[in-house]
Amino acid sequence: MERLSNKVAVVTGGSSGIGLAAAKAFAAEGAAVLLVGRRAEAVDAAVRTIPGAHGLVADVADVDAHDRVRDVVREKFGGADIYFANAGVIRITPSDQVAAEEYDQQFAINTRGVFFGVQKIVPVLRPGASIILTSSIASQKTVVGHAVYAGAKAAIEAFARVWAIELKDRGIRVNVLSPGPVETPILSKLGLSPESASALEAEMVRISPLGRLGRAVELADAALFLASDASSFITGVNLPVDGGIRLA
Ligand code: NAD
Repeated sequence: MERLSNKVAVVTGGSSGIGLAAAKAFAAEGAAVLLVGRRAEAVDAAVRTIPGAHGLVADVADVDAHDRVRDVVREKFGGADIYFANAGVIRITPSDQVAAEEYDQQFAINTRGVFFGVQKIVPVLRPGASIILTSSIASQKTVVGHAVYAGAKAAIEAFARVWAIELKDRGIRVNVLSPGPVETPILSKLGLSPESASALEAEMVRISPLGRLGRAVELADAALFLASDASSFITGVNLPVDGGIRLA
């Protein structure tokens, strides 16, 4: 029996990395999937890899874009059962060098994008729906240069706790997934030189109890757990999928 049969899943940042792996896992378990991404070519390419998937080009930093996502969900599917607010960006910059634009961009995508994505999709979520937010272990583990990113992600963890209570009467569960370092395209977009990025990666592997980076499919498996009825008694948690690096 497929774990997500008759379910509709919306995945933001669904055209690469963790989002794409999760979209594939959801579809393989029977869900109809709507991928939301910023770049049309990437969304089209991702949709072609998932039988029956639909794509929508939208920038999660644009509050109005979430109205379009909701309208498409209503028109195409009549509602949704899974909302995976996963789109995100990271810049690693020492705090004394962070410019206002960089600060605003990270909060616009990582924080405001999640807040309004959830606010706008909730009216079309069906009873029993699961909302999953992708945070980061960086919000709990102190990592130099990550202050803005950590703060932006910490905020969504607070949102999730409030939403778990606010949405309980509609039977909607809200949980957070906190990846540790995972091998995805984001590792090449940190704003570091190739040498610094390689050194950071090597250091992560060195300190990680499991001694390696995570794989996108491992995060997808955890997202599938939180999306499915296997987690039907779980709401308001923050699940680290981090190879134990938070302990290092
Ligand atoms: P990724 O770069 O492969 O995926 C991020 C996706 O978000 C991309 O598809 C990108 O196009 C999309 N996106 C970015 N800005 C957007 C916007 N304004 N509107 C719509 N889509 C947008 O990286 P990933 O590792 O798969 O990242 C997924 C999530 O996991 C992010 O929230 C990231 O912060 C989080 N995360 C990743 C790691 C890691 O090591 N990979 C660790 C902790 C947390």
